[in-house]
Amino acid sequence: MLTVNQASTYILPAGHESIRLAAARLQAGGLVAFPTETVYGLGADATNEDAVAAIYAAKGRPSNNPLIVHLARWEDAALYAEISPMAERVMRHFWPGPLTLVLPRRAACPLARAVSAGGDSVALRVPAHPLAQTLLAEAGCPIAAPSANPSGRISPTQAVHVRQGLPDKGILVLDGGPCAEGLESTIIRLHGERLELLRPGSITREALGDMLPGLVEMQAEAGADGTHAPLPAPGMMASHYAPRLPVRLNATHVEPDEALLAFGPDVPAGAARTLNLSESGELAEAAHRLFSALHALDAPDAPYRAIAVMPIPAEGVGLAIRDRLARAAAPRD
Ligand code: AMP
Ligand code: MG
Repeated sequence: MLTVNQASTYILPAGHESIRLAAARLQAGGLVAFPTETVYGLGADATNEDAVAAIYAAKGRPSNNPLIVHLARWEDAALYAEISPMAERVMRHFWPGPLTLVLPRRAACPLARAVSAGGDSVALRVPAHPLAQTLLAEAGCPIAAPSANPSGRISPTQAVHVRQGLPDKGILVLDGGPCAEGLESTIIRLHGERLELLRPGSITREALGDMLPGLVEMQAEAGADGTHAPLPAPGMMASHYAPRLPVRLNATHVEPDEALLAFGPDVPAGAARTLNLSESGELAEAAHRLFSALHALDAPDAPYRAIAVMPIPAEGVGLAIRDRLARAAAPRD
């Protein structure tokens, strides 16, 4: 029988017994981190007000930043949200998968109020990762799960990132290996018949465009200094995904006291350390590696003073990578 120390965050390899233990922990109001195809989530029973409060406490997350609720099946969404014919079409097409839908919260919604951060909407997603699916089925409850990192910091794409970021929060981490996509879900809000893109993600604008020609971008592209126009959704802060070290964007040369996050085959020489997101210049590979590379370059004893990042093309999933990097580079509070 596996036992878990309540204070230390604890990694277990995914398997029948550890998934059963994790499901029991969720049912008892505890916290479980688990992989999805996007990043590792910090999960709690989304119907349990205290358990959801524990997510905010563990992450140090501002209470005005709502949570995504993960569901086993798209049909469950109608228990929690008003589902328009358009919403149903989008769910059937993209779920399971890395797309989150923000919908009007049902009056008789049994989810904890805190998942909506006091608002009248709810964000829902059905993840495709088999481990997330098994955990949802075993737990038998919807799972509220933001990324499993301290608020504002780099997202975790491996189990060890969760333990490094939240070492003493008594979290059971199910280790399912590195996340395939490596970037958070694309978020769309349905506002009547209006469709708004709140966060670019691994489902690209192009992939959405065919099905959702009326989609309105709610985000200005960030400037080279990482500054953004104010955003409509709570929690979409300018500074986010931030390493401890400063980040310099669009670097075409590098200083000897900088690390370099490179992209593509033509890499400037002279950095204290270089990691390449994709030697061949493939954006999907770069998305998959982005957060792991930032975690690696942000080592506490790093012998450099900043992370310089080469330009990333503004196309396809490159838009989501640029969004994350712009926030990583943004002025911090
Ligand atoms: P993460 O914390 O990485 O899981 O990110 C979740 C994102 O979803 C945050 O940017 C939230 O602000 C956003 N989100 C969750 N629920 C809602 C909602 N009801 N309305 C708008 N944005 C939401
Ligand atoms: Mg996050």
